[in-house]
Amino acid sequence: MQNSKQKNQAVINEAPFPNCFAKEFLVISRGNGVWLEDTAGKKYLDFAGGIAVNAFGYGREDLARVAFEQMKKLVHISNLYTTEPALELARKMTGNKFQAVQFLSSGAEANETALKYARLYSLRKKGEGNHRLLCFKNSFHGRTMGALSVTPNAKYQAPFLPLIPGIEVVSYNDVRALEETLDGTFAGVIVEVIQGEGGLECMTPGFAGTLNRLCRRHDVILIADEVQTGLARTGSFYASEAVGIDPDIITLAKPLAAGLPLSAALIPERVNALIHLGEHGTTFGGGPVTTAVALKVWERLSDRDFIRRVKEKGEYLWESLEKLKRSFSFLGEIKGRGLLMGIEVPQAEEGSDLLQGLIKAAREEGLLILGSGLNMLRFAPPLVISGEEIKTGLEMLKRVFAKHGAEIQYSGGK
Ligand code: PLP
Repeated sequence: MQNSKQKNQAVINEAPFPNCFAKEFLVISRGNGVWLEDTAGKKYLDFAGGIAVNAFGYGREDLARVAFEQMKKLVHISNLYTTEPALELARKMTGNKFQAVQFLSSGAEANETALKYARLYSLRKKGEGNHRLLCFKNSFHGRTMGALSVTPNAKYQAPFLPLIPGIEVVSYNDVRALEETLDGTFAGVIVEVIQGEGGLECMTPGFAGTLNRLCRRHDVILIADEVQTGLARTGSFYASEAVGIDPDIITLAKPLAAGLPLSAALIPERVNALIHLGEHGTTFGGGPVTTAVALKVWERLSDRDFIRRVKEKGEYLWESLEKLKRSFSFLGEIKGRGLLMGIEVPQAEEGSDLLQGLIKAAREEGLLILGSGLNMLRFAPPLVISGEEIKTGLEMLKRVFAKHGAEIQYSGGK
């Protein structure tokens, strides 16, 4: 399915969307497997996965059928009642470690829930004044006021000040700073195992161990935001498992219902025991359609062979990026794990349009990719991508670098 010499792309420059979005939009009409097609008929190999959401790729009749059959029976019923798909999914998701699952609709909402429960727990267990929340530089936890308050990035926060009080920020993977800061006055710590939006930095095992130890010692709720990393994406079911972090609450979202809006916060018994009726809730979270689809997703993404294949494909992607790096001296470090990986273009400085230019050039070549942090090109393809398709994508990327190499070399510090 080679496509570089195809018809024009379907790009529009005016859309009635707010200015928080780019002016230029590619109008996509359909997809099949790991390929997308725009309204002009041009095809794109998808290394973006709807930002790490579309684990199963496109045109999935099996998943569409589940949604359709459930829609015919019941679409929405509220949290005053429940349904069989929601019950069955919650039972599967709790496993041995968690007592309850709260279903929500977005990653930010799942993190809001986790932060609220950390404060609720701390208030009822440790008493007033122990409500602080710790987060880390370059992390991303969402755009609602609470989640935004623990997303220390001036670009996202500055226009919306003041944020919620009681937030402390320390450097990621800085064991000493963590030891100097974290004490019993904190209610919770929220952390990503791989910083998906913030440059693909991976948590070190030493940092994970310190987090576990200090949170236990001070009875602080450790929240692993696995919205992007969870559910097989990084080559283990939860990214936390691989690095040895032992969270009290895990938040999940992106692939949970294969692109339908469903998120979740997994809650342990000791927190659940302190929550009272009516203290938190939501309208759409955990409806029968999203949970029916998520049941299928859960079954497939928890399959050991599936996870092993994601890991192997990640290793292949890493080796292929190593090779690419040897051909282009302007490329920097490779970061990430599994099928959440990226390569650094160190010349891309804040304010420079180099990274966006490369993403656009890749799109013109027929490859959809993402950025992460200031200078990483990020790849998060559907987890069902084949080795051959990874190879095709990297050939496209090589053509992009070959065409734009000179510009990249001389754009440092622009
Ligand atoms: N947490 C992480 C780690 C994310 O990557 C994202 C989104 O990219 C969010 C939270 C926010 O999710 P949502 O956009 O669904 O609110």
